[in-house]
Amino acid sequence: MSFSVVFAIALLATGCKSSGPAVVADAIYSGGPIVTVNDAQPTAEALAVKDRKILAVGTKSDIDQAYKGTATKTINLGGKILAPGFVDGHTHFLGLGAQAVGANLLAQPDGTVNTIDDLVAKLREFAKSPDVDRTGWIFGMGYDDALLGRHPTRDDLDKVSKDKPVIAVHISGHFSAMNSAGLRKIGYTAATKNPEGGVIRRRPGSMEPNGVLEELASIPVMIAAISPATQADKDYYAQRALDMAKSFGYTTLSEGRAFAPNHQDLVGFATRGLLDIDVTSYIDHVDRRIITTEWFGHSYKNHYRIAGIKITLDGSPQGRTAWRTIPYRIPPDGQKKGYKGYPAIPDTKVVAAVFEESYQKGWPVHVHANGDAAIDQMIKAIRPAHQTHGPGDRRHTLIHGQFLRKDQIPALKELQIFPSLFPMHTFYWGDWYNQIIGPELAQQISPMRSVLNAGMIATSHTDAPVALPNLMQVMWATVNRTSRSGKVMGPDERLTPIEALKAITLWGAYEHFEEKTKGSLEPGKLADMVILSDNPLTIDPKKINTIVVQETIKEGNTVYKREQ
Ligand SMILES: [Zn+2]
Ligand SMILES: [Zn+2]
Repeated sequence: MSFSVVFAIALLATGCKSSGPAVVADAIYSGGPIVTVNDAQPTAEALAVKDRKILAVGTKSDIDQAYKGTATKTINLGGKILAPGFVDGHTHFLGLGAQAVGANLLAQPDGTVNTIDDLVAKLREFAKSPDVDRTGWIFGMGYDDALLGRHPTRDDLDKVSKDKPVIAVHISGHFSAMNSAGLRKIGYTAATKNPEGGVIRRRPGSMEPNGVLEELASIPVMIAAISPATQADKDYYAQRALDMAKSFGYTTLSEGRAFAPNHQDLVGFATRGLLDIDVTSYIDHVDRRIITTEWFGHSYKNHYRIAGIKITLDGSPQGRTAWRTIPYRIPPDGQKKGYKGYPAIPDTKVVAAVFEESYQKGWPVHVHANGDAAIDQMIKAIRPAHQTHGPGDRRHTLIHGQFLRKDQIPALKELQIFPSLFPMHTFYWGDWYNQIIGPELAQQISPMRSVLNAGMIATSHTDAPVALPNLMQVMWATVNRTSRSGKVMGPDERLTPIEALKAITLWGAYEHFEEKTKGSLEPGKLADMVILSDNPLTIDPKKINTIVVQETIKEGNTVYKREQ
């Protein structure tokens, strides 16, 4: 029993009964298990909310006696589960809008595109939608070459349209494929050289682009193609993104790589009152000058804040652009034997300068690094700044760390780098990793248990719009690590359900410097909550991914309710 409960009961007992409780709750939730993610009080019967915050957590009789007044709304959970709202370690709010609006090119279980023909059909369907006019592009998100057998080419996409530009975005976000009209529109021809950090794939025996674009040959043109231009269309995307996130239980969402214009859009959404859940952004290092604005800091304004900066050191592991120290077993099209992926920023001095400035100015840095060579580069780049400035509470974060080697983990600990890993890949690409990096290393991807064993905490993220922002699927993958074909990928790296739940709530809050206000159901924290169809801690762990979010509550207000 908390002090405040004791105090309130004492008041009742000493004759204040006629005036009701000293503090009256706005709402009291009870009637279903309450999973608090607070080790000091893991479960409870009732939870009281007042002024957007959690007032008390305890037994139903204590809470009712102490805080239930005539104005208190009582909410019966009806056997459903109350849990903390989800705080994802790494997502892309603005990409989520494109995912919600564009054609869904994901394979099962998130979509239905399992062949190139399916992909063409889906894009043709989207071509009829009025949403095409919002960007001028026929676009779709999330195709997976590992399942399709190859990337779609311009010839495939010319079947969607000969005159309108078409772009299909790879599930990693690091590749795209365009039709001939699309290539014409962006001006890629046989004469166009590969940009640094990117590849324009060519037709066999010629310099003519085949439509497939990698990394920095893709990312800027892809973002331009799928992003809305007018204010009304931007708002529409944002609304669709928020609706999708809330339907999956997000109460804090992140834009994991924002450029200056993206930040301006986010400021616009915030100031016009569009945001009803919290959104953090990490500003790409090339635009880090804008971090000096009033929007940077730990407190939100109208649900938005800049939380730090982002630097990207390599590509995607399933796309084989993650930068490794040893070769891929199967090089991608157009690459020779011995290919190890490649860095996004070949000069480590450039990366080190970003860290030095971040240490000086107190910016948390989110570092995208998948391959072990990219992680080596991160360690090498951060160490001089760490030695100069000494330890501190900075929460620089390794984003993804898919091919993190066990011998690199002590350096993460020493340099105080928070791991935000991506075990969701064990399901989506576990079987593919068996082929491209070999079964032994495939077992070790996103080694969550090893990181916890080293005395660190970590998050398990969706990186949505890579797949859907379905954190129950992520939690399921973190606990089970089962591939599409049913193989367990690295049984020793599996987490328990409570650890995996922390990795999408309390530890997510920690990563973003918000563990004092979010991530668990404790008095004084924000009333950011979800109501779930089943208890993720007691359901058969193999069924965690069948759990659906019934309701999402942000600071005491219901912002999403599933239609029955
Ligand atoms: Zn990334
Ligand atoms: Zn990302």
